[in-house]
Amino acid sequence: MSISDLTPHDLLAEAGIEDTPLRHQVVRLLSEADRPLAAPDILELVRREQSINKVSLYRILDLLVEHGLVRRLSSPAPPDRAFRYCLPGGGKPHHCHFYCTRCRKMECLDCTEAPAVLERLASGRGLVVMSSDIRLDGLCAECASKAGLEP
Ligand SMILES: [Zn+2]
Ligand SMILES: [Zn+2]
Repeated sequence: MSISDLTPHDLLAEAGIEDTPLRHQVVRLLSEADRPLAAPDILELVRREQSINKVSLYRILDLLVEHGLVRRLSSPAPPDRAFRYCLPGGGKPHHCHFYCTRCRKMECLDCTEAPAVLERLASGRGLVVMSSDIRLDGLCAECASKAGLEP
C-alpha cells in the first residue's frame, strides 16, 4: 500500500497517535500538499477550516515529528529561517529536497539513493547516523525560466 492510499486516520493510527480534529487536518494538509510546508503556511491553511493558535500547531507538529510520521527539515538560509515539514518522509523512504532561493518553495525529490549511500558510507566508518537531511538549493524550473536560465 502506498502512502497515498492511507487516510490521515490510518497514518495517525500507524504512528500510534490519537486522532483529533486538529491533528487530522494537519496530517491531511501535509499529505495533500505533497511538498514540505512551513509552519506559517500550515497555520494559514488550518485556519480556513478550524481555529488554532500557533502554540497548538507547534505542539502537533512536534508530536508528529517525535512519532516519525512527519520529518522536520532544516531551515534554508536566512532570511528564510522557517523549518519545513514533510509528510511523505513518514511513509516513504527518506528522500532529498530541493529549495528555490527565489520563490522559497521546497520540493520533494524522488531520490532515496543518496541518503542510503551516505548512511552506508558513514556506518562503514563506524559512525552511528541518527538522521540526515539532504537539500539542493537553486532555482526551480519556473524561476529559472523567468531568469532566462536553462536548468
Ligand atoms: Zn522558484
Ligand atoms: Zn519531502
